Amino acid sequence: MAEKTILVCDVCGEPAGQRVTIRIGRRALVKDLCDPHLAELTDGTRLAKRGRPRAVGAAAGRRKSTPAASDRQTRGRKRPRKREQPAA
Ligand SMILES: [Zn+2]
Repeated sequence: MAEKTILVCDVCGEPAGQRVTIRIGRRALVKDLCDPHLAELTDGTRLAKRGRPRAVGAAAGRRKSTPAASDRQTRGRKRPRKREQPAA
């Protein structure tokens, strides 16, 4: 017999309309919510801006200090050198 999964609101136990994923830092949490509780959760929220991964944002924040100076430093020094050694 086929089983049917019924989402139940994690707050009140009523049939849930949505499963939401909440991201807090690196943790992603999942919660099933009925319509009233979903509305409660999304009240005061805004759309996340897409197209800006976290890594890029962090790098951009670091770069903010003195871009010209750091460019000069990395020019002749920190370039990764290809020093590949034969595996065998
Ligand atoms: Zn609910």
